[in-house]
Amino acid sequence: MSSHGNISASSDNAPLACDFCSHRLQPRYTPDRSTRGLTVHVCPHCGLVQSGPRVARTKDRHKAAVSGGADWGNVRYGKGFRTGAAMDALARHVDLNSTFSLLDVGSNRGSFARALLDAAPQAALTALEPDERFAQSVGTLARTRLVQARIEDMAFADASFDIVHSCHTIEHLASPFTTLRDHARILKHGGLLVIDAPNIALIGGDDIVEEWFIDKHLYHFSARTLSRMITAAGFSILEQVDSADPINLLFVARKTGRAAAPAAADLAEVEQADRLLALYQQARARNLAALTHAACELAALTPRKVALWGAGRLFDLLVTEGGFNPHQLSLLIDSHLKQHMDNRHGVKLDAPEALRQTPPDTIIVMSRGFAAEITAEAKRLAPGADIILYSDLLSRARLQCAA
Ligand SMILES: [Zn+2]
Repeated sequence: MSSHGNISASSDNAPLACDFCSHRLQPRYTPDRSTRGLTVHVCPHCGLVQSGPRVARTKDRHKAAVSGGADWGNVRYGKGFRTGAAMDALARHVDLNSTFSLLDVGSNRGSFARALLDAAPQAALTALEPDERFAQSVGTLARTRLVQARIEDMAFADASFDIVHSCHTIEHLASPFTTLRDHARILKHGGLLVIDAPNIALIGGDDIVEEWFIDKHLYHFSARTLSRMITAAGFSILEQVDSADPINLLFVARKTGRAAAPAAADLAEVEQADRLLALYQQARARNLAALTHAACELAALTPRKVALWGAGRLFDLLVTEGGFNPHQLSLLIDSHLKQHMDNRHGVKLDAPEALRQTPPDTIIVMSRGFAAEITAEAKRLAPGADIILYSDLLSRARLQCAA
């Protein structure tokens, strides 16, 4: 493996081979605003969706880019939200009061590490985190060995761990199948893998507007493709935690050590991947077009004082694709992004408390996943304001497009 921490080089023109079954990939889709020049491919044999070329990591990985396009990155939201699900899954298969060793792949800010150390008084943790900005936050924990490196560059001894936990990491790697087999190698016999990754099923939603195929993700798993790879890497799957969750794929698997059979063809999966990609492109094009109408509806609210809560990817697209003028806002609220930057598209970011000092007439909730939480908090902070939800805004805009 590379000693530079680079993703394995493949020249731009060389045909990509499937990481799982080695068949030659077929290009299907070019993401918007990819700074890596990525193309999304479908494996015509196993149906695994993967991006290429598998180019070297970007150098400016510390720069926050809040974009609705593929160049989005480095503002990490996700992992902390998955800690509860991972701990619950672990508790169903392990006696947390027993003595065990656990490798946490991609510890990030240590949300899972802390929860594990709290719940498992005898556990010994190895926390693997390459990013020095985050590594230090786990380096001081008790019963914890911090290794500041990438899993791809590590060579832990055979049968070193009882448990490997990997949360939203596998999709970034040059070769997930190589890493899954390595997870099996470093686990003791009967050891557990708890693995979580984004679910490509999400792109089948008809309200999608952000580019899902971001530069940081090279692999785009379905429940079927990820479970096949885990099994072929030498595991038996004990549990897919919530098979109805369109956002995450969380699996618990036990090491069997059985040698992998060559990946058989799965033409139903190939068809499903092609169908998803086609639906995604149609829905996204329609929704991006609708953002222009959404921006018009919001522009017509003046001279009312309008606050917008949620300055992330949807907001970026409302401005860049919909032509919304963010300077018409009285407040732009985002408690998370405020920690990373002071303004978005030239408009100052404020914390939610600003709604008390400068009560608006209307609050636009520019979020899907957290709309309920934001709405509740907005009503508490500015009880007199009308609330407009992004989902309603988009529905109305789409009707206008159709008219
Ligand atoms: Zn394949």
